[in-house]
Amino acid sequence: MGVGDTVAAVSTPRGTGGVALIRITGPDAFGVARRSFTPSGGGDITDRPFRTAIYGDVVRDGATVDRAVLTLFAAPASFTGEDTAEICCHGGVAVTAAVLGAVFRAGASPAAAGEFTRRAFINGKMTLTEAEATGLLIAADTDDRLKLSSAAAGGVLRRKLGGISASLTAAVASLCAVIDYPDELLDESGSFDPEGEVLSAVSDAEAQVAKLVLTYRRGSAVASGVRTVICGAPNVGKSSLFNAMTKEDDAIVTDVPGTTRDVIKRTVPFAGVTLLLFDTAGIREISDEVEKIGVDRALRAAEDAELVIFVADSSRPLTDDEKKLITSLPSAPKIAALNKSDLPRGLTAEDEKLISETFGAAVDVCAASGDVAPLESATKELFDSDSVDLSRDPVIWDERQRAELCSALDALKAARAAIGSGAPADAVCALCEEALARLGATDGRGVTEEVLASVFSRFCVGK
Ligand code: GDP
Repeated sequence: MGVGDTVAAVSTPRGTGGVALIRITGPDAFGVARRSFTPSGGGDITDRPFRTAIYGDVVRDGATVDRAVLTLFAAPASFTGEDTAEICCHGGVAVTAAVLGAVFRAGASPAAAGEFTRRAFINGKMTLTEAEATGLLIAADTDDRLKLSSAAAGGVLRRKLGGISASLTAAVASLCAVIDYPDELLDESGSFDPEGEVLSAVSDAEAQVAKLVLTYRRGSAVASGVRTVICGAPNVGKSSLFNAMTKEDDAIVTDVPGTTRDVIKRTVPFAGVTLLLFDTAGIREISDEVEKIGVDRALRAAEDAELVIFVADSSRPLTDDEKKLITSLPSAPKIAALNKSDLPRGLTAEDEKLISETFGAAVDVCAASGDVAPLESATKELFDSDSVDLSRDPVIWDERQRAELCSALDALKAARAAIGSGAPADAVCALCEEALARLGATDGRGVTEEVLASVFSRFCVGK
C-alpha cells in the first residue's frame, strides 16, 4: 500500500473479546467512516468535535452489521499523522470480520503488516528507533522488555542520538566556516581555535557513541534473548536448576538418571536479561538409544548456544565423562553451577582446578532449595546488567542500530585521527558529516526502502 491510500485493519488480537478495534487511516478515512457508519443521533460524523466517541450503526449495503463506537482523529493529531477513524465494535470473530468487511466495502484497502506504525514514521510522528521500540513494546512479555521498549518508544534513545548529533553539527558548522572564510576567522593570534572545538566535540561524540554501542549486549540480551543451554550429567540437578531459575515446577525432576530426555525450551527473565532456556538431556556418552537421541540434541543445542550453564554435583568427584564434556563444550561464555551446595563438598582439588580454568565463573548453588542467587550474580556480571537502567538510560537492542552506530564510531575515530595528524579542515569535515549521516540513519533519516521494509516486516497486521 502506498501512503496515499486509505487502509484498514483490525488492531486488536484475533479471537473472542469484549471489544475489537478497527483502525482506518489515510486521506479518505472520514469518507470510509461516513459510508460505513451511521450515527444514532443523526447528522454527519464530522458534526461532533474530533476525538469524541460517536455511538451508531456499522452498515453494509444498507443493513446494520453491528452497533459500535466511532472516534475520529483529524490529521496530524493521530497515531499515523493522517486522518484516522477508529471503530470499536463487539469483539467476536464473525462480527469483527463483518465490520472490517463493511469498512472495505466503503472504500478502504487492507493494511499491510506494520502499516500504521510505518505511516507514523513516514509522517514524522515517530523516529525509526521509536517505531522499532513500539514493535518491541507490543510484543513485550517480560518486565525488562517492557521497560526497554517503553523508554525507547518514549524517546529516550531518540533524544540521546539527537543530542550527540546537535553538538557535533555545531562543531562542524564552525569548521565549515573556516573552510569558507579562512582569512576572516584564522587570525595570527590563534584566539579562534575551531580545530580545538571540533576535536573536543568529536572526542565527546565518540565517547558517547561508544557507550551506546556497549549497551547492545544487554539490550539484545533483553530484546532478542540469549540462547542458553543447561547441560551436565544425569542426576546432577539440571531440571531442579531449570525450575529454580524459571520459578516454576514444570520440568520433570526425578532420581532416575537420564529422565529429562527432551529439550525443554522456555523464555525466562533472569538476571536482568531474557534467557531462552534449553534444558537438555544429560550430556554423556551412554549407550541407551533413546537417551542418545536426547544427548545428540543436547550437543546440537549447545553448539549454537550463546550461554552454557554446566551443572555439576559438587557432592562427588567429576566422572571421566564429565571431564571430557567440560573440555569439549563450545566457545560461548560458560558458567559452572556447582549444585547441591547443601551437601558436603566432594569435588577433588583437581576437579576444582579444571573447572576454574575452563569456566568464566564457577558458582555454588542449591537448586533444591531454590538458591540460585550466585548464578544470578554471575549472569548479571556477564551482561553488565547493573550498569544500565532500562527504564531511564538510552539502550540499543537491534543489530541494525548497532551496525549504524559502529559506522558512526568508525567515522568519529577517523575524524579524531585526522585532526591529530593535521589533516585539512575539509577532510575532517567530510568524516564528521559521515558520522552525522550514520547517527541520523540510526533513527531513520535517509534510510532506504529496503531497510524500512525489513524493520516493518517484523510487525503484524493491525500494528
Ligand atoms: P537432572 O537429571 O540433572 O535433571 O537432575 P534432577 O533435577 O532431576 O535432580 C536429581 C536429584 O538431585 C533429585 O533427587 C533432586 O531432588 C536432587 N537435587 C537437585 N538439586 C539438589 C540440591 O541442590 N541439593 C540436594 N541435596 N539435592 C538436589
